[in-house]
Amino acid sequence: MSTLPDALQARGWTVHTPHGPFTKNGWKIDFDTSNWMIVSSRVNPRVFDVPVPDEYHARWTANLIEHLCQEEDERVRLRAVIEAIHGMPGVGSEARSTASNALERCYHRWLVNVEVVEGHLGRLFCPICGQRAARPDEEPF
Ligand SMILES: [Zn+2]
Repeated sequence: MSTLPDALQARGWTVHTPHGPFTKNGWKIDFDTSNWMIVSSRVNPRVFDVPVPDEYHARWTANLIEHLCQEEDERVRLRAVIEAIHGMPGVGSEARSTASNALERCYHRWLVNVEVVEGHLGRLFCPICGQRAARPDEEPF
């Protein structure tokens, strides 16, 4: 068995202190409270919140965090490719329409922008597709 910092270091992560942050490939793990960690990527400041594991679950949690980060990076990379195809000059209308429909689909990961006053457009934003909303009940789908 190992601690989470040991398990992460074995996978190539940089352990800045035993209590975080931990970084690798633009991914970052910060401690939120004593029991939760915030996993972020270059594009998404809140990929997911993960509980701090005991030693029995440290290696599994390190594997889960890398999986979440890899999936997030792949989502961002594929959306960028679809946007590039959508914007290519001379691309056919059928391909442009297919790309447009794909880009409109998003599971949305709503985050709060604390710099926007509550109730105003942009208070909530999705770091994946860029959509913004004012309140949770106004979230576009
Ligand atoms: Zn979205």
